[in-house]
Amino acid sequence: MSAASREAALTARLAALASAGLSRRRRLVDHYARPDSSVEAMIDGRRVRVFCSNDYLGLARHPRVTAAFAAGARRWGAGAGASHLVTGHHLEHHALEEELAEFTGRERALLFSTGYMANLAVGTVLAGRGDLVLEDRLNHASLLDAGRLAGARFERYEHADAADVARLLAGRGAGEALLLTDGLFSMDGDVAPLRELAAAADRAGAWLAVDDAHGLGVLGEHGGGSLELCGLGAHDVPVLVGTLGKAFGTFGAFIAGSAALCELMVHRARTLIFTTALPPAVAAATREALRRVRLEPWRRERLRSHIARLRDGCAALGVPLLPSTTPIQALVLGDNATALAASEALLERGLLVAAIRPPTVPVGTARLRVTLSAAHTEDDVDRLVEGLGALRPGLA
Ligand SMILES: *Cc1c(COP(=O)(O)O)cnc(C)c1O
Repeated sequence: MSAASREAALTARLAALASAGLSRRRRLVDHYARPDSSVEAMIDGRRVRVFCSNDYLGLARHPRVTAAFAAGARRWGAGAGASHLVTGHHLEHHALEEELAEFTGRERALLFSTGYMANLAVGTVLAGRGDLVLEDRLNHASLLDAGRLAGARFERYEHADAADVARLLAGRGAGEALLLTDGLFSMDGDVAPLRELAAAADRAGAWLAVDDAHGLGVLGEHGGGSLELCGLGAHDVPVLVGTLGKAFGTFGAFIAGSAALCELMVHRARTLIFTTALPPAVAAATREALRRVRLEPWRRERLRSHIARLRDGCAALGVPLLPSTTPIQALVLGDNATALAASEALLERGLLVAAIRPPTVPVGTARLRVTLSAAHTEDDVDRLVEGLGALRPGLA
């Protein structure tokens, strides 16, 4: 193939995506407009209030978190210099792991560089040929990829359907079974039926791993996430994955579980062994963020009050948000073009709300996805309600 025909093939693929309404583009954040928060910004040359960041608690630009980051960089440098198993594992990582283990009520926690990599580790270390991996249809892409990469028999069950899980577990063969689910579903905002899933896994002797990327820090009185909300502990959910790039405002992820589970991960998880450790400064910033998560419950209360304000406002205007008691609030619009047009109309009002399309969500369920943050003001929420209300005529 000549260079010209290679380029032509790539251009044709891009054109096909565009005609399906699946073009994607990275927005350029030029600067933030408010001190200490990331909810108002100059993006693509326009000043907008942001309703699609995962900085749920407003910690990403918290002065104490950024100061810890800066101090960490001065002390340790900009990078870890190696993987955890060579010379990348620093005192700061070690302390953060101990604090995360305590926070999640588990024997041990193990840092990974991203949530994607932590999930790949869970799938590939706990399942293999001859085993069965079960996943919710709406699981995050990284969990689905983990299931595929494991090389086990891979089945998706109906969303949030514990009876379907029990049926599939009853029909499994001789191998191990691994049940993987999001805690708080990232595109719908609902919480998995963790009690029922834990009971089904327990009855069948299966592993249950919960990826609580969006729940930790946010849900539950103490920020313990979906598990706290459902009243479950380490005995019910032996494997917990958390990410640090969302409510904690920094970057990275961890697996929390028994000491043996984490030790096996150190020996077998390729996404831990063959990658550079997080910069120690990120671990230092995250330790400070974790302190804020614990010491500032008002951030969760404020978020809850924003959620209620948004839902009450939308209900009054007849805007049909999906049922959700979490900071993730979705308005399903159907086809890609409608979702894009709605997002564009909100942008005209200075409101940045992402249009989410396949393959992130199932075909025909393109939507607006709002995320709220404790950094929002009541005025931000009111403007959003107005904007969503003004879309209505176009929705029917
Ligand atoms: C964001 C997210 C991840 C990936 O975490 P990163 O640290 O960003 O790689 C994994 N699972 C879920 C449910 C997520 O929302």
